Amino acid sequence: MELHKSTHVVLLSSPGLGHLIPTIELGKRFVHHHNFQVTVLAVTSQTSKTETEILNSSLCHIIDIPSPDLTGLVNENNGVMTRLSVMMSEAVPAIKSILSKITPRPSALIVDIFGTEAIPIARELNILSYVYVASHAWVLALIVYAPVLDEKIEGEYVDQKEALKIPGCNPVRPEDVVDSMLDRNDRKYKEFLKIGNRIPQSDGLLVNTWEELQRKVLEALREGGLLSKALNMKIPVYAVGPIERESELETSSSNESLVKWLDEQRSESVVYVSFGSGGTLSYEQMRELALGLEMSEQRFVWVVRAPIEESVDAAFFTTGRSESEEVEMSKYLPEGFISRTRKVGLLVPEWAQQVTILKHRSIGGFLSHCGWGSTLESVTNGVPLIAWPLYAEQRMNATLLAEELGLALRTAVLPTKKVVRREEIEHMVREIIQGDENGKSNGIRERVKETQRSAVKALSEGGSSYVALSQVAKIIEG
Ligand code: UDP
Repeated sequence: MELHKSTHVVLLSSPGLGHLIPTIELGKRFVHHHNFQVTVLAVTSQTSKTETEILNSSLCHIIDIPSPDLTGLVNENNGVMTRLSVMMSEAVPAIKSILSKITPRPSALIVDIFGTEAIPIARELNILSYVYVASHAWVLALIVYAPVLDEKIEGEYVDQKEALKIPGCNPVRPEDVVDSMLDRNDRKYKEFLKIGNRIPQSDGLLVNTWEELQRKVLEALREGGLLSKALNMKIPVYAVGPIERESELETSSSNESLVKWLDEQRSESVVYVSFGSGGTLSYEQMRELALGLEMSEQRFVWVVRAPIEESVDAAFFTTGRSESEEVEMSKYLPEGFISRTRKVGLLVPEWAQQVTILKHRSIGGFLSHCGWGSTLESVTNGVPLIAWPLYAEQRMNATLLAEELGLALRTAVLPTKKVVRREEIEHMVREIIQGDENGKSNGIRERVKETQRSAVKALSEGGSSYVALSQVAKIIEG
């Protein structure tokens, strides 16, 4: 590898591990494949032990921007999305100051979707600006088209009788819209529209998907496509994914015993259950999930968080807080559940080494909140999903996975609308591991493996995502 690294790229990550992890991974690609110097500006929540570990273990140079003081700017009713937008707005002066002083002078600034307020700073400093959409192209389409929907549609989106049409893309069912579109009078909706308006002002978009997975939407978004025509959007859209972690670096004794347990299980026989970095369930839902897992008689690894009644994203800023605050699971799991399932299931408090788990040959299914990071980690390791969306854009992800791509089973009713009962969980868990009721294949595992192969191809030298990232790198190099 050349020692002289001339091209310097700055990546900006908003708070939340689901934002930080993919940003760092993109940074690593630029370091490894293009020999760039990469700085990650991470606006951090600083409440999470896991966040600190990830920052410390990154191969990129990290500048940590502590989350600004939000006193007086948000109130306790403001949800995660509003908090994120306000944090990023408040961090703009710090971002500007760093960008104007940092050496060597950066050639490009790449922001995540909550960092779009920094695009004008890059312009001012004569630096190229890109938006990295760590999610998929269909969500991107909805975000950039939302300002048009705002003009066209009256009343709440969730009350619409028909799906929301986006030129050149599959329509979005009203119940699937992203959280920011659930209440048009809420502050997070206004912030969301601003993001949709700012994205096309960048010099280009990097999306964590690949051509072969989402060709139709990508074509619609690109110059000449129906959506880009409708928006008069002329910036290039690069599908550079799947960008995800190869494996965790840390080893711990709990992880070693987990891997040892997995080693003892049959291939593709264990279902992994996790709701991402921020997901939480109600008390009643946790009990049903526990009993459903038990009734399925399948082996499982479950990342358990204390139940919360009023919110499904309660752990967003705090997950993996500290070892001493680990949850006392016996308090809220059904009586006797822990001892009855000791031989067939493992309970991991708060945070697990997810990539290590998903890579293990014993894992045969993933009951997931469908965060895009988790989704990609599952698919690229050949693991079929049970879609259990909770918040953000996860309902769209679940629909994409279960209905368009055929990579997941899903519940009959959205888990955010109604408690999923133990019998339904039992059936889904059994089916994802064993195929359908008659032991016949439901085709999901085969399609996941095919998609896994297509992802490998896209990333390998000459593959679509490899070429797309090389094109971006070339433009940045100038
Ligand atoms: N993750 C993990 N251990 C956990 C929960 C999550 O390593 O116990 C990682 C997961 O592998 C993924 C990220 O955290 O890389 C979560 O991102 P995702 O997009 O799936 O969902 P989000 O947390 O943003 O909702």
